[in-house]
Amino acid sequence: MQYVPFGKSGFQISRLGFGCMRLPTAEQDGKQAIDVPRAVALIRAGIDGGISYVDTAYPYHGGQSEPVVGEALKNGYRERVKLATKLPCWAVKTRADMDRLLDEQLSKLQVPYVDFYLLHALNRDRWEQMKSMGALEFLDSAVKDGRIRYPSFSFHDGFDAFAEIITAYDWRMAQIQYNYLDIANQAGDRGIALAKERGVPLVVMEPLRGGALARPSADIQAIMDAYPEKRSPADWAFRFVGNEPQVATILSGMSDEAQLADNLRIFDGVKPGCLSDSDKALIAELREGYRRRMPIGCTGCEYCLPCPKGVAIPANFRAYNEFNMFDNLSNFPSRYQEFVNAQNDAGRCVRCGACERQCPQHLPIRDWLETVHKAGTAGK
Ligand code: SF4
Ligand code: SF4
Repeated sequence: MQYVPFGKSGFQISRLGFGCMRLPTAEQDGKQAIDVPRAVALIRAGIDGGISYVDTAYPYHGGQSEPVVGEALKNGYRERVKLATKLPCWAVKTRADMDRLLDEQLSKLQVPYVDFYLLHALNRDRWEQMKSMGALEFLDSAVKDGRIRYPSFSFHDGFDAFAEIITAYDWRMAQIQYNYLDIANQAGDRGIALAKERGVPLVVMEPLRGGALARPSADIQAIMDAYPEKRSPADWAFRFVGNEPQVATILSGMSDEAQLADNLRIFDGVKPGCLSDSDKALIAELREGYRRRMPIGCTGCEYCLPCPKGVAIPANFRAYNEFNMFDNLSNFPSRYQEFVNAQNDAGRCVRCGACERQCPQHLPIRDWLETVHKAGTAGK
């Protein structure tokens, strides 16, 4: 495991962070729920393997991630990590809600304080609302009374909104989406440069862009295979992000033991400046390959859900992208029929636009759903 100083905070942090949004699940009473003993063992194995940053949030696993993280951090594990959780800004209607939610989260986590407390998923509108409700004064007071150590935010919007937020307060960390397809999206390269200028360390989410970068099509895999140095697709994607010195920790939502073992092995080498010039040229080539093949830039974050008509928006997009990536669009209608049978197909969209207002990627969701529906019903 590689470690780097966490900005000016005076401690080192592991470059791999354990994201607790995709913990292992098992069927319980006919529903999928976190497999608690396995999840606890997995988080602890990650910490034993050198991970020193654990990330959770109020809504993960329908509210069950925080209590499970709390269990995992018993028996001395809490002292070995920096713990991050997030204020669900969308649930905040008054200043008092902020204190109430933080207290609820500390109680679910069974800890007296968290290290990093993030305003969750800020975009321009949400930032304005949170500011007007007193979020910055709340963060100051929570630091003062010892419930949080480092006020932070996670972010989904464009560079201009990022610049406005990061310059408005003495943030101790910002969590951004970054990967080799998103250098000009979201905060992007310009956001990283600005964070460096402001001395704000970054935590990166979506390093594999919803897993897509770990599952390349044959032609993209062929680009990697032709390169003299052999690494897995996930390895290249993590190295791309970890090459950047302003990035302290890279989150991976790990769901099983094999994935953890693989990540621990990869992160032995994910140092700042780990890419050579020819590695960077390889990644530029991969970027172009993906851009040609993934028409819809959906990360699967699910902020657009629920749709009032029941459209499974990210699932429809994922399927369409995958059939495109694998040059298999002529077989897409049979997959699409499964969505029709489950009554969550793109064709149910009535173009109300509610989903587009929530999409951090600003995707024209309605138009894409129409495209998906046409491809799914081709020949009918
Ligand atoms: S625009 Fe379509 S997909 Fe989006 S919320 Fe409305 S009905 Fe659902
Ligand atoms: S359409 Fe937008 S909000 Fe919905 S899952 Fe994709 S990226 Fe997220």
